[in-house]
Order: sequence, then C-alpha cells, then structure tokens
Amino acid sequence: MTNSMHILQIVRTHFVALLGENPTITALPGERDKNFGVSGRGVKAILKICSPEDLEHLQLQDRALRSLSLPSSPKVLHEEIVTLDSGALVRLVSWLDGSLWAESDSDDVRRFGLGQSVAELDRGLSQLELDRDEKTILQQTFRWNMMQATDLLDEVDLVVDFRIREICRQELTVFVTELLPILESLPFQMIHNDANERNIIVGDDTIGLIDFGDIVFAPRIVGLATAMAYAAIGLHDPIPDVIPVLRGYNQVTPLTTEEVGLIWPLVRIRLVMSIINAAVQSSSNPDNEYLLVSQNGVVQLLTTLVASSDYLALCRARDACGYEPSPRAHEVRHYLRTGSATKVVSVNSNQVGWIDWSTTTTDPRDAQSIANLMAQNNLGVMCSRYGEERDAHDNFPFDNARRRIHLGVDLFQKAGCNVYAPFAGVVEQVRAMQEVGDFGHGVLLRHITMQGTTFWTLYGNLTAARLTRLDVGQSVNAGDVIGQMGQPMENGGWPPHVHVQVLTDLCGMGIDIFGTAPQDEMTLWRSICPNPNLFLGIASGDTSSDAHAGRPTEILNRERTVRLSRALSLNFREPLHIVRGEGAYLFDIDGRSYLDLVNNVAHVGHGHPQVVAAAARQMYELNTNTRFLHDAIVEYGNNLTATLPDPLSVVFFVNSGSEANDLAIRLARAYTRARGWISLKHAYHGHTASVLDISPYKFLGAGGAGAPSNVRVAELPDAFRGRHTGSAAGQAYAKDFAKEISDLDEPLAAFIAEGVVSTAGQVTLAEGFLAGAYEQTRSAGGVCIADEVQIGLGRLGERFWGFELHDVVPDIVTMGKPMGNGHPLAAVVTTPAIAAAFNNGMEYFNTFGGNPVSATIGQAVLDVVFDSRLQSNAQTLGSYLQDQVRVMQSTHGLIGDVRGHGLFIGIELMREEEPAGDVVANVIEYAKQRGVMLSSDGPDNNVFKIKPPMVVQREDIDMFLDVFDQALTHLS
Ligand code: PMP
Repeated sequence: MTNSMHILQIVRTHFVALLGENPTITALPGERDKNFGVSGRGVKAILKICSPEDLEHLQLQDRALRSLSLPSSPKVLHEEIVTLDSGALVRLVSWLDGSLWAESDSDDVRRFGLGQSVAELDRGLSQLELDRDEKTILQQTFRWNMMQATDLLDEVDLVVDFRIREICRQELTVFVTELLPILESLPFQMIHNDANERNIIVGDDTIGLIDFGDIVFAPRIVGLATAMAYAAIGLHDPIPDVIPVLRGYNQVTPLTTEEVGLIWPLVRIRLVMSIINAAVQSSSNPDNEYLLVSQNGVVQLLTTLVASSDYLALCRARDACGYEPSPRAHEVRHYLRTGSATKVVSVNSNQVGWIDWSTTTTDPRDAQSIANLMAQNNLGVMCSRYGEERDAHDNFPFDNARRRIHLGVDLFQKAGCNVYAPFAGVVEQVRAMQEVGDFGHGVLLRHITMQGTTFWTLYGNLTAARLTRLDVGQSVNAGDVIGQMGQPMENGGWPPHVHVQVLTDLCGMGIDIFGTAPQDEMTLWRSICPNPNLFLGIASGDTSSDAHAGRPTEILNRERTVRLSRALSLNFREPLHIVRGEGAYLFDIDGRSYLDLVNNVAHVGHGHPQVVAAAARQMYELNTNTRFLHDAIVEYGNNLTATLPDPLSVVFFVNSGSEANDLAIRLARAYTRARGWISLKHAYHGHTASVLDISPYKFLGAGGAGAPSNVRVAELPDAFRGRHTGSAAGQAYAKDFAKEISDLDEPLAAFIAEGVVSTAGQVTLAEGFLAGAYEQTRSAGGVCIADEVQIGLGRLGERFWGFELHDVVPDIVTMGKPMGNGHPLAAVVTTPAIAAAFNNGMEYFNTFGGNPVSATIGQAVLDVVFDSRLQSNAQTLGSYLQDQVRVMQSTHGLIGDVRGHGLFIGIELMREEEPAGDVVANVIEYAKQRGVMLSSDGPDNNVFKIKPPMVVQREDIDMFLDVFDQALTHLS
C-alpha cells in the first residue's frame, strides 16, 4: 500500500520534526523507486520508497550526495535510511526548485549550463574515494550501465522495427570491438549516468541533476554522452545544436582528444540502450507508460545520427573543445606544404594578379571586365584569396546569406584553358552541377599523403566536354589534364575560372560539399578544407592568415575561451570588440567610440602618428640586436637617464615590466649578495615566476601560495583607510617597517615599492614613509627599488617619476608600460656601482631589448611627452578632475575619497564605512554604455582607477564627470 495515507503515516512517524503533522503529498513518476513530493513547515522534499535489496546502493547514493556541495544537487534529509515493517526502505532528499528539462525551453545557454552542471557533478564525484566493495556495488549487473552494453546484443531481437534493430546491432558490434577497449583504458569514477530530460531541473541560476539511482563506476565520458543523448532529442539539427552541452562540460573540465573521439559513438550507444531496454521492459510490462516516454524521439534521433557524417560530427566536437577541428588537417597541410605539386593552370609566375571579391571591394565580378583587367595588366591568371568573405553567393537557392567564407581559391583565365592535376590521385567523382551559382562541371580527385592519410582536391566550374573523358576510379598523374575552364553557361554562371578546394574529408557530401562556409563556422570549415595556396604557392596569398573575414563578436569570444588560457581575463561583463584607437578614444567593431580612461600604456595616445611613423621608418631601415653599435640606443639611453637624478645613470633595456623587475632582483642580489626581500602589501610587480614571489597582490591573492620564506610583506602605508591615519601616519608605518626587516631570517637584498600603489587602489604612500623605509633598508645592507612601470614618465604631473613625490633617490628604477606607447619596451636604470657588481663575467644578452626599432620608438614617445607638454597637461587636468569630483562629494555620499597625482587618480566608493565594490562594478557597466571606459582595483575592488592616455582634453574630462554624476545618481 503506497497511497497518500500511507505516506502521511511514514512522515508522521519518521520526519515529523522536519515536515510537521500535515505535509502536502503528491505522487511522482519513477521507473524503479516510488517517489512522492512532500512539503511542510517550509521544507520541500522528495520521499523515496525503495526496495530492500537496494540497501547498499542507496547507502552509496547517500554518500555521494552528502559529499557534493553543489547548489545543483539535492541534499540528503534523513539521518539513517528508514526500514518499514514491510521491509521497504525510505529516504528523504531535498527538492530542487525549477522545472523539468522536459518541460522547459532549451536554448544554447541552457544546454551550455547543462554541460557545466554535468561536469561539476563529475568533478565532485571524482573526489570520492571508493573502496573495493563500493566499486563492486557500482559495477553489479545493471542494464543502464554502458560498460555492460555488450549484454544487450542478446536482446536486440526484441526491437520490433527491422531497420532500427539492424542499426542497434551494428552500433553494438562496433561498441564491443572498437569502443569498449578504449573506454576500459580510461580512468573510472562514480558518474550520475542518468541526465535525462526528467532528471534535469532548470532553476533560475542553476541546472540541477536529480535521481542518483543510476550511479555507476565508469569513465566520465559515458555520463556526458548520456546527457548529450537526451538533450539532443527533438532538436532541429541535433549535432550542432547539442554541441553547447559539450562546450559547457569542456569549459569546466577539459576533455582529452580520446574522450572527444568517443562522444558521438557513445551518444548513439546510449540511444541504442534506451531502445533495447524499452523493448525488453515493454515486452514484460506493457502497462508502464514511463517506459515509453520519449521513445519516438530516441528512434528518430538515432536514425538522424546514423545518417550523419561521423567525420563532420567529430570535427564539430573537437572544435568545441579547442582542438583543431579536422584531425587529418595537420598531416594534410604538411603534405601540401612539402609535397611536390605541379601547376594547376599554366602561367608564368610574373603574370599572376589578385582579385578581391570580398564584400567591401569593387573589383570586377563579370567575365568581360575581368578579361579586360587581365589584358590591360598583361596577366595570365587572376586569383582570389582563400577565406575571403563574399556576398556573391548570397542569393543562390542552394545557399543562404550565412555561407559567405570562400573555402577555395578561384583561378580566373580564359574559357577553355586547361586545368591540371597537381598530385597523382584517383578520380572520386565527376558531376554536372548546373544550378546557377553552383560548381558547374566538377571533378573530385582522391589523394594520399606519404603517411597514408587520404585527402581530396576539388576542381569546379569546368566545361562539360572534357569531363566525359574521366571515369570514376581512374588514376591520374600529376600534370594530367583533368578539365577546362567553362563558359558561364556551363559553369554555373560565373566568369571563366576554376574553383580549387582541398578537402580532408567529404563529410558525407561528396562533390556537393560546401564551397563557402558560414561565418560562425569558419574555423571548423577552414580546418576541413585547408588553404589550397599551400600547394599552389602563389606569392602574397595569405596562406595561413585570413585577412578578409572577421569572426562575429560572439564567435570570437567563444573561440578565445578555448584557444587562449582562461586565466587571461577580459574587461566588462560583455567584452568589447575593439578594432581601432585614436588619441584618448577606442572604437569597437560597430563604430561606437569609448573615452579610454584605462590605458595608461597608450601614453601619448592611441596610434600617435609621430610614434607610428618613427617605428615604420626604423623597421624599414634596420632592426637587429644590441651587439652592434647603433646611435638610437645610446641617444635614447642618454635622454632617458637625463630624466633621473644622480647617480642613476646605467640603463638596461628589456621587454616588459616583469622582465625589468626580474633584472632588478638580479642586480640587487649581485650587489648585496643577499636574498632577503621586502614588498608592500597589495603590491604587484609582474607575472614571471621571480616577480610573482615579490608580489603580495598575487601570492596572497586568489590562487596564491603565500609569501616565500625570504620575503616579508610590509603594511601598506595608507593614510586614508590603513592602520595609521593622519599626518604622522608615514612615521608610524616606517616604524612598523623595522619589524619586517628584523623578522627576516636572512640578510636583506632589497625593498621594492611604487610611489603610488595602483593595485592597492591608487594609494599614495603616506608622507615620510618612503624616506624612513629607504634609510632602514640601506642600513640593513639592502638596496631600494622604485617600480615606475605603472606611474612613471610624467603621468603624475607634479613630478616625472613617482619616487620624486617622496624626496628619495632609489638605487634601482624599473620602468615599462608607457615607454613604447604599446610597443614592448621596458628598462632598468641603476647606479654605476650596482651595474659594476652585476658585471661579473656572465654576459647579459637580451634578444629584443633595446633594438633599434624599440629605441627609436622610446625616443619618439619621450619627444612627444616633452614637445606636447603632456606632463603639464596631466597636472592641470588631473587637478581639475579631482576638484570636480570633490565638489560632487556633497551630492554623492558614496564618494569616500578622491586621490592621486596628475592623470593617475583613484576614486574610492564607500557605503557606511564599507567598501561599495558592487556600485563600482555597476558604474563601470553604466559608463561603458555611455561611451566611457573605466576600470577598478584595490583589495575590495571599490576604487576607480583613472589613468587615460596623456593626450586627453578638458572636454573629455567633462564628459567623464557628466557620465559619472549620472551614474551615481542612477545607481546609488
Ligand atoms: N610593475 C607594476 C607596478 C605593474 O603595474 C606591472 C603591470 N601591471 C608590472 C610591473 C609588470 O609589467 P608587465 O605586465 O609589462 O610585465
């Protein structure tokens, strides 16, 4: 008896404390257990009545659920599993709010989320240490364990439909012989194994997985295949449409190429299991409707998948996981690059011209104009570029505006000109494709690389006549005539040319394969169809780059997440796709402009003409390393050191701020023969291994491993919000500093600090601190390093360098960011004594550092800073900005502090003594919408960092003030 009264009795006896005397009870469907929704006293739960023989498995499910701390998985609400008088077992788990996957609309975002949830669950379950008995329980005979799918071969005859039965048999046979051995070699773990549409709960922010009754011990790819199989049911174009699940999974835990290679066959196996299990169960239990749910969709999906190209599906899966889509492409490209191809058309190399049919050009599209152009320029052939974005194919019936990226190279000559096979091969297909815009008459040749990889070349738009002489299966030699260029009337309506395309697979389409790719799939198709110019070898053909077609912003972002490390972050909730910069402004792909208050690297303004011209001139003239005499490095060295006080006079040119600080470490160690180190709290000095070790911002931040044993972190001398405030704060912090020196276990090599600490939130060191710290450092035998990478070169207005604000002279100065206006140029300047200690016989060579181009650029930047009086501009506009924001403080109580020097300003938002980082984040997004680019920093991310190119104007500052005022009005 499992009616509501009975359940009520159970609740009253065992769960009254949790659910009260009178919970609401609803029966839920279930295949094996009897499930009831019960809610009372604000608690929503599922009560499960299970069979006694499942006890061990149920205990394992509880263990799994208890070990997971995911919002997307249910919690166990019972203490012990309850045994009823009947022997039946009762469990109580929490109810996940949301709707069933089966009853919600699924889109790419949800499918991506599903993949992420499955991956997070797998990651959680993989942490469970299972003993031998537990593994045995998870591997007992179970018809939903794919690792036992072989057994289903005995039952395949129960599938009624002959066609489906044979598909099932075929898939299972491949499974046993090919897939199972690979699966068995993969790592096993506990997996959920049943992400079907009735076990997925779509919540507001999470996608949850319920019902752990099918957990097994298997490779994780089995569970992902299960999720993908169910998620693909009913989708319009199931393979591409379900890919977001895979992408979501891979983003949480990357899949190996081996796993990716298994995914589609295992998706099919899961469908086969579903079909056979339904056949078995409905033959013995014809009344259970649950068994038949979704069987039609399963059969239809399996039929579609079986009829689809395995290779194309594999390419899509690899693409989603960041692997080169076509697994053969690597080898085929190698062969095309190195093999000895003969000419496809006869022409002298000096008679080759380019024709550009990409969307924005006016190059001729019609036969007569092309012929005229060739005659005028005495050209034997005109070539189009691979990968160009064309609209010429937009209106053809077999095509649509989505497919615009040309996958071949077109060679235009006169009608009747011969086309030759570049490699030996076999005729795979010969076809007339007469529709307007199609390939006309075409030939497909099959070839093989030295390593035995098959690939194809396709020649389209030929005459009918010649083709009749080619038989499918016939061998051709390199240099054999395989066709002639057709007239428009027989070549699909195009000017006479041959379309040459390379194929690493026919993707089930044969000669009808796409000649153009959709823009959002261009990476996929360019891998399936590599650039024919690899063997055509036509100079300046952009053989591996694609100068003509950009990716849509969304695709760019998606590809970036797999191509680049995700540790490389992007600005803004919706990243900007910036394509151009000028002065203090940046422009996105849609032409929107943004006032750039973020990029202090573009010191003299984006694309400064004087800097660009100097760089281009020197690149034409000479670029080599520093082992030759050259004026530029010495001239720039002189002018740069002239900005520094005595005795800072010896310069090393390097390529980044991190490299500068790394060298500073070496210099300090060479001079002091010590390794002890002091940095300031929240300070950042770069990203290499050595400088991470002296950057508390990193080693004490997310992912950091704490301070190395030779490094002590001195308190940040912040007079606004720090341990000491007021006018004597600097002295007090200097006193604290002494403790850090005495705390070191080894002699002190150096103390490093910026004059204004940007990563701490634009904090200017409290007055008097630096002088005190320098004195103590030196009396302990250490040297003093000023990191000017972020703040130097006139930005601070009052003084050219940050340390000058504090009336000290460092022993080593490191500089970078603004020096090359974006060109990688950085430097270390030190004293002759320290430089001499470093010169111990070991050569210092830096391949790029200080080369003629870098030195010339550095000099040009310095010239602009001086000629345009940018330091003075920084001082005037910076003071103006700070004054105006101070005025706003009376209307906007959130503005806690305004500080900084010149165009290096911090605005700190506080709400009742608490950092208001949330408002800062919203203001940044608000300002972005209105064309002003802002960024934030500080330990609580509640400080706006304002550090624009030094060429900003008063109007720009006014625009910022306006937007900032509005933002605070709207958002506080
Ligand atoms: N020092 C400071 C103060 C910096 O701000 C940075 C970069 N943000 C670096 C060093 C490292 O410079 P780079 O990124 O050029 O290696």
